[in-house]
Amino acid sequence: MRLLQRHLCMIAMSLAALSSAQAAPLVEPTLHIKPAASGAGHVALTLDACGGQTDTRILSALVENKIPATIFVTGIWLKRNAAAVEIMRAHRDLFELENHGGRHIPAVDTPRKIYGIRSAGSPDAVLAEVESGAAALARTGEPAPKWFRGATAEYSPSAIAMIRKLGFKIAGFSINGDGGSLLGAKETAKRIAAAKDGDVIIAHINQPTHAAGEGVVQGLLALKDKGMTFVRLDDADGTGNHGTTD
Ligand SMILES: [Zn+2]
Repeated sequence: MRLLQRHLCMIAMSLAALSSAQAAPLVEPTLHIKPAASGAGHVALTLDACGGQTDTRILSALVENKIPATIFVTGIWLKRNAAAVEIMRAHRDLFELENHGGRHIPAVDTPRKIYGIRSAGSPDAVLAEVESGAAALARTGEPAPKWFRGATAEYSPSAIAMIRKLGFKIAGFSINGDGGSLLGAKETAKRIAAAKDGDVIIAHINQPTHAAGEGVVQGLLALKDKGMTFVRLDDADGTGNHGTTD
């Protein structure tokens, strides 16, 4: 009986150790670009295409107003949005396509849930997510991606190190423009319009039915009216924390 108690105690202790390892804090890295040397300043607009469809309100506004953007696409989104990809490819001066993973699975190498999405859960699964995202871009004939942004934009520090070893920089942000596309149009417009020289904005281009998309367009036009210019990550000097770019 005593032996059994001791055994149970050992199990409890190892379970506690396991759950504390799983609770290791995730990081949500920031990214800034070097401020503009002159003029009203510049910002980098990054838009995630996680899955689902294309918000043509945003895509059309970018083309009409010649606003460059870095689009983080998943393998899933690429498969279902050939028409939008064609428009982006027809405007290579505006659009840079980068890696948002093969299946939109958070780049976290321990099993857990982030915003209700199950993490990759192991180092191998993180690698598969990153590499399958790059392969999907290669299949569409795009240049090899240089930047990666994982689903939910949260990472375990060990996953960051792994992704860097694969040769990708990791794209954080400094302004959460649309709150995961769940904010209203007014609040989204306000957040984006408040961007300052050197900011990196994140918003979504895959939720055509959400009010946030309308706010993305309004916010971008407000920035443009102020004389702010837009650069893609490829054309900017981006610096992130948590070892994401250096
Ligand atoms: Zn996403």
